[in-house]
Amino acid sequence: MPAHIAGILHATPPPVWLPYPEDVNALMPSLWPRSVAKNEAGELTIAGHRVTDLARDYGSPLYVLDAADLRHRAAGFVTSFQQAFAAIGTEAHAYYAAKSFLCTAVAEWVAAEGMGIDTCTLGELMVACQAGVDPQTVGLHGNNKSDEEIAFALDWGIGRIVVDSFDEIPRVAAAARARGVTAPVMLRVTVGVEAHTHDFIATAHEDQKFGLSLHSGDAFEAARRIAAEEHLDFRGLHSHIGSQIFESSGFDIAAARIIELRARILTELGVDLPEVDLGGGFGIRYTSQDTPLPFSEMAERLAAVVASACKATGAQLPVVSFEPGRAICGPAIFTLYTVGSTKVVDTGSGERLYIAVDGGMSDNIRTALYDADYSCTMANRRSESEPAVVRVVGKHCESGDIIVRDEYLPNDVTRGDLIAVPDTGAYCRSLSSNYNHVPRPGVLAVDGEQIGWVIRPETHADILAWDTGFAPAADPSETTSASAPAPTTGADAPCEERRSTTR
Ligand SMILES: *Cc1c(COP(=O)(O)O)cnc(C)c1O
Repeated sequence: MPAHIAGILHATPPPVWLPYPEDVNALMPSLWPRSVAKNEAGELTIAGHRVTDLARDYGSPLYVLDAADLRHRAAGFVTSFQQAFAAIGTEAHAYYAAKSFLCTAVAEWVAAEGMGIDTCTLGELMVACQAGVDPQTVGLHGNNKSDEEIAFALDWGIGRIVVDSFDEIPRVAAAARARGVTAPVMLRVTVGVEAHTHDFIATAHEDQKFGLSLHSGDAFEAARRIAAEEHLDFRGLHSHIGSQIFESSGFDIAAARIIELRARILTELGVDLPEVDLGGGFGIRYTSQDTPLPFSEMAERLAAVVASACKATGAQLPVVSFEPGRAICGPAIFTLYTVGSTKVVDTGSGERLYIAVDGGMSDNIRTALYDADYSCTMANRRSESEPAVVRVVGKHCESGDIIVRDEYLPNDVTRGDLIAVPDTGAYCRSLSSNYNHVPRPGVLAVDGEQIGWVIRPETHADILAWDTGFAPAADPSETTSASAPAPTTGADAPCEERRSTTR
């Protein structure tokens, strides 16, 4: 019998938001991908496949992606927003935020559901390119775009570059002129709205690195300079107010301020901007405390806001675009871990069962980085033991290496059990690291009957292969060491060529 069963006499009190479970084996369906359930033995299943089999065949830790669930969310977002904006007399477009989680399979899937892709680095651009995404449906963001990134975007024929600073305006214009093209650009505006999980702050000032300030007049001045550039096609204004937003109220103010600026640009500069992008940040449910609006409701509220803001300025309705990331991929992936060790710890206000698994902050940094809350379930068996508030931790050399801060699990969880953590699709794999020289888990996609990697797991051989040792080049003018492969070179090679060489 594990020593801790007798140990938990006075449990640490749970956080107020965490309800005592009626059945600690049961799943809360709203936290899991659509095809996930538990069978009679208490094993978690995805599209009928038992995760015990997946862990045995594909290893652990493992990110498990429900492909149909991801496509369903993408389609649901596109349909909801298209319908709501058609009802007010305009169009809505959605760009999937690549930074939340990108691989070629996901790029293909979201594109097939009618989404564009929002990128912010050469790496993300190259994945979208390799996936065969139409460049006209791709956008490039970033507060510090390299010449190489701008060149790649223009050579590929990107749909829009979102300008983020004054110095970028002549740089993009010069790159376009050098190619004999016109670069489609939008202007990122900071509107003084900062969204937080449960509320938002509307201010005049914003002390952060993105965009150009509406309040200071920089945004209008940037618009003037863009409009004056012959090789820039000024497409519209962009605003992104934050992430994990549950209410439409933060977007209300952002939309009103952006549409007001658009009206001023029309009257004072004579430029009629066809598009407004209100960014991403649509929240998801990580635990029972999160209450996001359904896409359809959010879409209707935002359409109403845009309609009334345009009415107030007398302006024509713009095409409106959005950039959801987390809301598309977040709930579609869960992480599967194996328990290696458990420990009862005296917290000072009671005892807590610590459950250590074979991953941690290298595959999910959000708990440590953002104080995020996650949920979890025991995934390999039913238990009739009492529920206990546990903490799921990783294997890294940090006390902050926490994956799930508070959750009820059966108090007999022990070495060899499987723990599944839902809603790890966004900003987990994409923010993962090799901390402690831990290989990053692969992403295994389940699509009904079919199972296959979309990102293969790293191995210790990969980690050793990156380590060149100190092997100076014989000729000091050679910058790369003899044993290391040459870094991939610039964006001067056309995309098609790159695609054929990298496939
Ligand atoms: C991060 C980001 C998004 C996506 O945010 P989510 O919270 O994942 O929806 C969209 N647009 C921009 C500009 C971003 O920086």
